[in-house]
Amino acid sequence: RAKQAGKGTWRFADDALNTALVMDLQIETHLRGALERGEFEVRYQPLMQLAEVQVFGFEALLSWHSPVLGRVSPGDFIPLAEARGTIGRLGRWVLREALGQMRRWRDQGWSDGCVSVNVSVLQFEAPDFVTDIQEALQEQGLPGEVLILEVTEGALIRDVPSSVHKLAQLRAMGVSIALDDFGTGYSSLSYLQQLPVNIIKIDRAFIRDLSERGTAFVQAIIALAHSLNLTVIAEGIEVNAQRDVLVALGCEAGQGYLFAWPMAESEVAVYLAGVDTAVET
Ligand code: C2E
Ligand code: MG
Ligand code: MG
Ligand code: MG
Repeated sequence: RAKQAGKGTWRFADDALNTALVMDLQIETHLRGALERGEFEVRYQPLMQLAEVQVFGFEALLSWHSPVLGRVSPGDFIPLAEARGTIGRLGRWVLREALGQMRRWRDQGWSDGCVSVNVSVLQFEAPDFVTDIQEALQEQGLPGEVLILEVTEGALIRDVPSSVHKLAQLRAMGVSIALDDFGTGYSSLSYLQQLPVNIIKIDRAFIRDLSERGTAFVQAIIALAHSLNLTVIAEGIEVNAQRDVLVALGCEAGQGYLFAWPMAESEVAVYLAGVDTAVET
């Protein structure tokens, strides 16, 4: 019986591996030309000030709807776009979409909002990264202050001196830098003091577990961040109880399904008309 179970388990693992490979292959196939065919869309999820429940910005999230595969999660296709070297073009497109959207929000009277854009490792490492950000802002006539760039620790620690240099240039332009998925990396603490970031986003894994022990972790992260003058954004807030705990711990900002799902551009306009924004328009 044991042998049979073992054999069954092995077969299962093998099938799972095959399925993953076939899936990757399909994604790769259909990813080719997807941008030109207009299959991508940027969706926007509100970033909230937690105590006042006011919107101060939106995170731009890339969304792909393939006519063949249906919706594919960025977690599944971004690594493949990186491997194929197309992430650069995709990233530049997201940045321009998001800043174009920001331009329109401002023209409609929402003058103090910001937009937060995810940046992949390869994008960040490109030598012309900072110049491209500067050009994209200039194209829309926007100050750096409207933009947050979300980078992961993994992207920053591959070449710390170069990262420090790039981040300092961006900060000098007024651009904010958020350390995304904070707490899921390995060396958060040692590098945090060297890198000129001004925001940390606590990964939703920590928000999911607000047991006594889990809460102690979140409390410690918030205390550390505040002692370094960093703003804290909590990810994945799904229920009121989580928001209440975070407010009690002094966490200033957050996002999650409790407030809103990522929305299409047309839905955002309707949403903004019906909610409080941090600064009156
Ligand atoms: P992320 O930057 O940590 O983005 C947050 C993810 O959590 C998004 O997933 C969002 O839809 C999801 N989320 C928001 N609120 C909740 C909630 O209350 N509960 C739960 N369970 N999830 C929530 P999404 O859109 O699937 O994106 C996944 C990841 O893909 C992102 O994680 C980011 O790392 C990456 N990504 C997305 N867009 C881009 C992009 O334009 N460029 C790059 N390089 N990466 C991107
Ligand atoms: Mg993010
Ligand atoms: Mg995140
Ligand atoms: Mg995450």
